[in-house]
Amino acid sequence: MKVYLNGAFVEKEDAKVSVFDHGFLYGDGVFEGIRLYGGSVFKLEEHLIRLEQSAKALLLQMPVSRDEMRELVCESCRVNGLTDGYIRLIVTRGVGSLGLSPKGCGPSGLVIIADTIELFPARYYEEGLKIVTVPTRRLGPAALPPMVKSLNYLNNILAKIEAQSLGYQEALMLNEQGYVAECSGDNVFIIQGGILVTPPTAAGSLRGITRDVILELAVELGIPVEKKDLTRYDIWIADECFVSGTAAEVVPVVEVDSRKIGDGQPGAQTRRLLAKFKDLVSVGGTRI
Ligand code: PMP
Repeated sequence: MKVYLNGAFVEKEDAKVSVFDHGFLYGDGVFEGIRLYGGSVFKLEEHLIRLEQSAKALLLQMPVSRDEMRELVCESCRVNGLTDGYIRLIVTRGVGSLGLSPKGCGPSGLVIIADTIELFPARYYEEGLKIVTVPTRRLGPAALPPMVKSLNYLNNILAKIEAQSLGYQEALMLNEQGYVAECSGDNVFIIQGGILVTPPTAAGSLRGITRDVILELAVELGIPVEKKDLTRYDIWIADECFVSGTAAEVVPVVEVDSRKIGDGQPGAQTRRLLAKFKDLVSVGGTRI
């Protein structure tokens, strides 16, 4: 496997970054996770825009232009002979001194890893996930804007650990006000009274690219959508629940905090949305 690292494709074994890169020292950087389906990169433009916006919010200089980035992503897939896979794009503050200040750091580091993807087990989709609310809260907008997909995932990592130590696959994270934010690496949705509801980004959720796609697909399916604050109670009594993300796509949730969601089976609207999502990824995208 070849990895793009600061200007060249190198063998996986040689893809090493400096210990003085502030991405390593402080998590000072941004990233994207993107899918390649049947030789097409799904929602590439949306991911490139989010990466640029995350970098802008952190006053981080993008190392290459949008056009160059698009080409490098496609080239990373081609040199690795991939038609289906997962692409990780990482931009770091670059090499600097031990101090916090990014002054003197640079140029920004750029890493592109294109690899095959290890999909979630099929039973997650057939049987649904059981998730649990965890103590660690999602960072609110007053701390770090949740729209920024930064290299600093410590709250979400703690949340994942907490869920796993309780025997669950995924964590439901609340914000500091106690409203539902999202899961450790996925957005969360419910269906209640025929309406698809997901928390607004202001509640502490990433503006997921899959989330945006699901909201569009729901409208096409005639399902009304709403972005509004949700409490744990709203989730417990929902008719259906699911999570969405680039790697996960759409995964039904059948139990939250030991409460069965609906009849404890993946919901009908969730299944319709997943099927429509699968149709979309098989036709759309940027050809590599
Ligand atoms: N929330 C968080 C915290 C994430 O890391 C991700 C990406 N894995 C998502 C939501 C889903 O976003 P997307 O659909 O863009 O992958």
